Amino acid sequence: MLFSELGLQAAMLDAVAELGYKEPTPIQAGAIPHILEGRDVIGSAQTGTGKTAAFALPILSKLASHAPGPRCLVLEPTRELAVQTFENFEKFAKFTNLRIGLIYGGVGYGKQRDDLNRGMDVIVATPGRLLDHLGEGAVRLDGVKFLVLDEADRMLDMGFLPDVRRIVLKCGKDRQSSLFSATIPPAIETLITWAMRDPITIEIGARRSVADTVKHVLYPVAELQKPALLVSLLERVQWESAIVFCRTRRDADTVDALLRRNNHKAAVIHSDRSQKDREQALEGFKSGKYEVLVATDIAARGLDIADVSHVINYNVPEHPEDYVHRIGRTGRAMSSGDALTLFCAGEAAQVASIERYIGKKVERVKLSDFPYTYTALFDEDKLGPATGRKTLGARVGKGYFFGPSRRR
Ligand code: ADP
Ligand code: MG
Repeated sequence: MLFSELGLQAAMLDAVAELGYKEPTPIQAGAIPHILEGRDVIGSAQTGTGKTAAFALPILSKLASHAPGPRCLVLEPTRELAVQTFENFEKFAKFTNLRIGLIYGGVGYGKQRDDLNRGMDVIVATPGRLLDHLGEGAVRLDGVKFLVLDEADRMLDMGFLPDVRRIVLKCGKDRQSSLFSATIPPAIETLITWAMRDPITIEIGARRSVADTVKHVLYPVAELQKPALLVSLLERVQWESAIVFCRTRRDADTVDALLRRNNHKAAVIHSDRSQKDREQALEGFKSGKYEVLVATDIAARGLDIADVSHVINYNVPEHPEDYVHRIGRTGRAMSSGDALTLFCAGEAAQVASIERYIGKKVERVKLSDFPYTYTALFDEDKLGPATGRKTLGARVGKGYFFGPSRRR
């Protein structure tokens, strides 16, 4: 399948050629023709498989050229993801005169007001700041013909739903809506009838599945040994750059300090930090100034950073879908990656719920020569030897057994 067979305008084909995209990914091949045709689409596909272009290209193609008033609205759950999606739209719209706008919190209002005044064809926004501008009358959405909820399950969960609903109800009635995520709940079609018209579902791979490009394993450990195991893993596993996810902001700060003490170039990103600090951490991580990014779930979704070789979960995520998103920060766009999850006895129930969610048992491994203290987790049955891929090579390879299962 070629991009030129999908019915996109020449300007979009030129943009993807310039970006070096050879052929559409499955979600792009599946969703683009339906969006072009005018259908509402619910798109689910694994992390890192090009969902952004799957909605951006056909919408830009239909918008064609600049006209007054916003006609497309894309909602994103975090500021960083709004920035990234905005940048993607700008690249895809390079050979058009369409104006792309970015509205997000934590930064000044002035420039955003000016941009809105000058007119935008596409607005990429986080809900809170967009509502502020709506409240001030700085923007109207009744001309919106295309609405996208990216990370849709997150945008429709209890935290965001009231804001999202208020925004959606202000959009033009005669519009096309799309939802995209790697973790679309099965019942979404019935939940979303208030926002969509006869949606078609495009599903690539099993729903809720982990990207095939990510090799993920669990490291059981006594809680008190987590810091030492993290430090040892970073010494002994071969890695290029890593994101370490923590449950709380405070854990993230503690782990950041721990890594710095151990001579790692680390930066931390969470919602208590200023937007300037968040941007500085993310930019520094992308540019290679920092080799480790310590983060809360604020960075779990959507972020597309090249060459993240490892995701390390210092804490097991509370919600199983966040596991899929977190580990999807590696192994993007056909590259491969490793994900290591440290877990202690207190997190065994969350691990079980992740395994139910993804429908698979995750391999338990042990780091050899690490001075493990006993934890009841080591008594679990059905523990196989670690069969690490080459990147973990000698480190998790032969001889790194999780220990024989005990007779009962
Ligand atoms: P998702 O939203 O599914 O997690 P993204 O839209 O962030 O994925 O895309 C992941 C990466 O894949 C990005 O770096 C993007 O530029 C790249 N990409 C998207 N589509 C293609 C394609 N058709 N060919 C090659 N790379 C692509
Ligand atoms: Mg995405």
